Amino acid sequence: MPVNDINHPLIAHKLALLRKEGVSTKQFRELANEVASLLTYEASRNLPLDNCKINGWQGEPIKAQMLSGKKLTVVPILRAGLGMLDGVLKLIPNAKVSVVGLYRDEETLNPVAYFDKIITDVDKRTALIIDPMLATGGTLLATIDLLKEKGCKKIIGLFLVASPEGLKRVSDLHPEVDLFIAAIDDSLNDKGYILPGLGDAGDKIFGTK
Ligand code: URA
Repeated sequence: MPVNDINHPLIAHKLALLRKEGVSTKQFRELANEVASLLTYEASRNLPLDNCKINGWQGEPIKAQMLSGKKLTVVPILRAGLGMLDGVLKLIPNAKVSVVGLYRDEETLNPVAYFDKIITDVDKRTALIIDPMLATGGTLLATIDLLKEKGCKKIIGLFLVASPEGLKRVSDLHPEVDLFIAAIDDSLNDKGYILPGLGDAGDKIFGTK
């Protein structure tokens, strides 16, 4: 299923704290990373495993399973995506990180690319895009296009909050991309903010407002 709305009491509780008026930068950062870890746990449920043999604690060979192949690259979308990175790397500490810099033009709401540093063998990896907000979907679509142009075949996205409009736009155009969302909110306002939403997630993570 391309859209996975993760319904879990821990996520609901942490989202309520994230939404609260007056949430501090410290609290927001911690909570965003905690929810990112919970989303990572869900999103990694179907990663392929290889059977292997290891020496167990008794020094005898035992059967085990380990993640197969080249595994993952995490793709934080600058700048707010960095606010989820530690939470993802807590569970997948060896993942390579491919950074994409896109900002949203305040007038047109269209994404403008200003930086990318994507791992060269992205064609052999699953890309795990992270961004707190899936609003109009424009930034995510531009990132998916960039990854596909570089040969990436498997893409997953993790978001704290999504709008129904953005989700529909992305899943209509890229039905094979798996999206894991902590909350699907009500709507977008005329400035492209999600309602009820979190406000400006980048400003809250970096403490710039
Ligand atoms: N980006 C944000 O930070 N918040 C929104 O509500 C939408 C986009």
